[in-house]
Amino acid sequence: MSSLPDNPDALYGDVIMDHYRNPRHRTRLSSPDAEAEEFNPFCGDRAALQFALAEPGRNDAPIAAVSALAEGCSIIQASASLLAEGVQGRTVEQAADLSQLFRDLMQGKPLPPVALAELGDLEALEVVRQYPVRIKCVLLPWVALEEGLRRLGGT
Ligand code: ZN
Repeated sequence: MSSLPDNPDALYGDVIMDHYRNPRHRTRLSSPDAEAEEFNPFCGDRAALQFALAEPGRNDAPIAAVSALAEGCSIIQASASLLAEGVQGRTVEQAADLSQLFRDLMQGKPLPPVALAELGDLEALEVVRQYPVRIKCVLLPWVALEEGLRRLGGT
């Protein structure tokens, strides 16, 4: 395992550091349609997601609101924030597709330009592949997402 340099800005780049310093979608929802939480006991990372559908009970309606709270290292906080931005406005099925694309990205699968366009800012997290010890941190919010999508009933 490589040790991490002192300056995380240089390491992770502007998009990740922006989402780490100014995480989006941290406001808790008053009446979520689904919630999911994941915890990594080895490093103390925690991600808690909430989802509200545009029309409650209809999982073919877009996810109108997402709340993403993450505790732990800079990477999990940036990943949760970017996830929330990426998922809001998508249907459950589209969010599941995005999650699969993101896993493909993090596994180093070659993705066509249309897939990269779909991922948008999420592509910035690919840099974490260089630090295998942080892959679990990146993926933890996505495990919570997939659990939340199952609870919404779409996958
Ligand atoms: Zn972490």
